[in-house]
Amino acid sequence: SLSGKTAIVTGSNSGIGLGCARELARAGADVVLNSFTDRDEDHKLAEDMAKEFGVKVRYIKADMSKGDECRALVEKAGGCDILVNNAGIQFVSPIEEFPVEKWNAIIAINLTSSFHTIAAALPGMREKGWGRIVNIASAHGLTASPFKSAYIAAKHGIVGLTKTVALEAAGKGVTCNAICPGYVLTPLVEAQIPEQMKVHNMDRETVIREVMLDRQPSRQFATVEEIGGTAVFLCSDAAAQITGTTISVDGGWTAM
Ligand code: NAD
Repeated sequence: SLSGKTAIVTGSNSGIGLGCARELARAGADVVLNSFTDRDEDHKLAEDMAKEFGVKVRYIKADMSKGDECRALVEKAGGCDILVNNAGIQFVSPIEEFPVEKWNAIIAINLTSSFHTIAAALPGMREKGWGRIVNIASAHGLTASPFKSAYIAAKHGIVGLTKTVALEAAGKGVTCNAICPGYVLTPLVEAQIPEQMKVHNMDRETVIREVMLDRQPSRQFATVEEIGGTAVFLCSDAAAQITGTTISVDGGWTAM
């Protein structure tokens, strides 16, 4: 059980981050939810999760595109035992037309934010002699596709950062690993299905199998529960010597 541990999950009011937060709470951890908004529904999400799992849950607003806010998140949380770096955005364009501000935003949110949160959280973990850093990378941290230059550069970068932090934390009870999901059925992905059905004139099942999952040999989405479950495993005693590596949850994508 993770009871008595505090987990910060960045970008966790939706999708994979929310899935990780829920599975960590189910495993007994107190949770800090985060995004860049500060709406009633964000705080309600924390309240409901606390009730559902019987743990402490707080929502702390911080914009992961800003280094000082990344560090302030860790400070306001009072440090953490588990840090899940999940916040991320995507933009798709040929490199010669890729807007500079989109490149900068993706590198800031998908990569540099983790530099800041880890720098702020690691000293406390080392002091306690226990810590788990889980970075949500992607199959695109290990392979490429055209038109996603910033995302893929950032995700490869997070894999390199993962290895480096693992070495700096080695032997201190602190591990650092990356989860590399393939296509995961998040609200973001779900929302693309009707549009794709129209464009390709296909039914839901066909558009999922033939278009969206053409690189995922299982032809099935991974779920946010599966990504969350993998994060919980990385926080378990069984994973104490797993560090500086990647775990793919991609239905076989990177085996091809
Ligand atoms: P999502 O859009 O549902 O979730 C992204 C989360 O990040 C949201 O909670 C959003 O509020 C938050 N966020 C965005 N910008 C932020 C900012 N500036 N500051 C703080 N929070 C911010 O998307 P998702 O699919 O759940 O993606 C989560 C992570 O998983 C991302 O890093 C993404 O690259 C990665 N990933 C997703 C898939 C997939 O198929 N969905 C596959 C591989 C990797």
